[in-house]
Amino acid sequence: QVRNLVTALPGPESARLADRRRSAVAGGVGSSVPVYAADADGGVIVDVDGNSLIDLGSGIAVTSVGASDPRVAEAVAAQAGHFTHTCFMVTPYEGYVAVAERLNALTPGDHDKRTVLFNSGAEAVENAIKVARLATGRDAVVAFDHAYHGRTNLTMALTAKTMPYKKDFGPFAPEVYRMPMSYPYRDAAAGLDADGAAAAARAISQIEKQIGGDAVAAVIIEPIQGEGGFIVPAPGFLPALAAWAKENGVVFIADEVQTGFARTGAWFACEDEGVVPDIITMAKGIAGGMPLSAITGRADLLDAVHAGGLGGTYGGNPVACAAALAALDTMTDLDLPARARAIGERAVTRLRALAGEVGVIGDVRGRGAMIAIELVRPGTSEPDADLTKAVAAKALAAGVVILTCGTYGNVVRLLPPLVIGDELLDDALTVLETAIREAAAQ
Ligand code: PLP
Repeated sequence: QVRNLVTALPGPESARLADRRRSAVAGGVGSSVPVYAADADGGVIVDVDGNSLIDLGSGIAVTSVGASDPRVAEAVAAQAGHFTHTCFMVTPYEGYVAVAERLNALTPGDHDKRTVLFNSGAEAVENAIKVARLATGRDAVVAFDHAYHGRTNLTMALTAKTMPYKKDFGPFAPEVYRMPMSYPYRDAAAGLDADGAAAAARAISQIEKQIGGDAVAAVIIEPIQGEGGFIVPAPGFLPALAAWAKENGVVFIADEVQTGFARTGAWFACEDEGVVPDIITMAKGIAGGMPLSAITGRADLLDAVHAGGLGGTYGGNPVACAAALAALDTMTDLDLPARARAIGERAVTRLRALAGEVGVIGDVRGRGAMIAIELVRPGTSEPDADLTKAVAAKALAAGVVILTCGTYGNVVRLLPPLVIGDELLDDALTVLETAIREAAAQ
């Protein structure tokens, strides 16, 4: 497995598929990388023209065990050989129960838990809010600046209005309130106290003033914000918010759709600060690429819902459950939390050294293998979205698939498959460093 380009990108076959796509697929779907995949494994994507590209995106944090983990592929084939669907709400099967047991044991906290399975992250978030409202008898939901929770109507309402995905849509689901987030790099640049407790106090005082703690059903937060720019809140922010939620009977929901399953160097990002959420939403890394999502939470909250109030025709599909059980085995056997930490250390050390050299890197941050480079105009903290686009384009032209994100469009994000080897990772980092140096010099 090596990076190897046999055509300029996109190659002729990718270009042909792009033409077909234009007259067949809705324009609103969008795509950040113009090459079409033919094969994918560990850290490499082979396109339809035979180019081998290093994957630093994992299909947006999904393929932590690689895009064709043999154990996942075998489990999928074996389950498909028995049955692909019966619907858990009609004729249940063991795989669903086994995934629920695994998630109840793996998620933070020793309390009694229950799990429901769905297909996508947005569905999991929708249902977490639904449960919190029913269990508390309250309506208001608190979300945060820079947040991203999905593209359905309620999850878009929870998503910050600065997110480009949200542009021109509406009206949105009511009773959603947005509060300031802890964004240490930008808080400091704006002259605010970037300390976690101070940031939490700002959010809590605004909640109290605008809504009142006893009217809030749930607070939903990404322990490390994903699409908003890999924003790691200052230490103390999450625990203070969780403590306030507990005191006020507010359901604390950790949206770990992007951070969950070893990505940040722990099974879940909230573990790093000892925060135990009332409900945790999960998807992406859970099933080795198969569509599966989950909410796991306090038994009293999830059992408060009447039978039939949760679920869906496809939720917890047996093939996806088989894939999840296999992916969880791979993650455990390969100790992918430890691998994520090692990847993070390797990458961050190099990127911080580069930051000292180029003057356009405002911040290098992240946890484990969820790493962000905030690109700015030289010597300032002003976001540089054009430079960010140029870096991603240069990296792609050299054979590295890399994603960008952020409220200001100026964050290059690294989300490599956790099974990527050091050689591939080092090669990709060299390409990225060159792309940043060249783009900065233009
Ligand atoms: N929540 C978070 C934190 C996410 O990062 C995402 C997707 O990026 C979602 C929810 C939505 O997940 P999905 O695209 O599977 O609906």
